[in-house]
Amino acid sequence: MIYNHLDGQTVTIPEKIFVFLIDHKPDCLCDDCIQKGLSLKRRQEVAPITKTVGLSAGFARNPGACVSSHSSRTKLVIHAI
Ligand SMILES: [Zn+2]
Repeated sequence: MIYNHLDGQTVTIPEKIFVFLIDHKPDCLCDDCIQKGLSLKRRQEVAPITKTVGLSAGFARNPGACVSSHSSRTKLVIHAI
């Protein structure tokens, strides 16, 4: 994992999510999987960040299926392009 080398430094949650998505490129991930993958306490911390990152160049956030297939329900998933 790319982000392990950042251990011991202060890394903001947006930075963690950014690196996590790059690390999983080109997989589509939902907010729940990002939250679990980064061991974040609250899902509410993830949603506003993925919403912003999804509008950035190099990322896309659209309704679709999460790569982990934990749900057949279509939900917003984000991936690095
Ligand atoms: Zn998921």
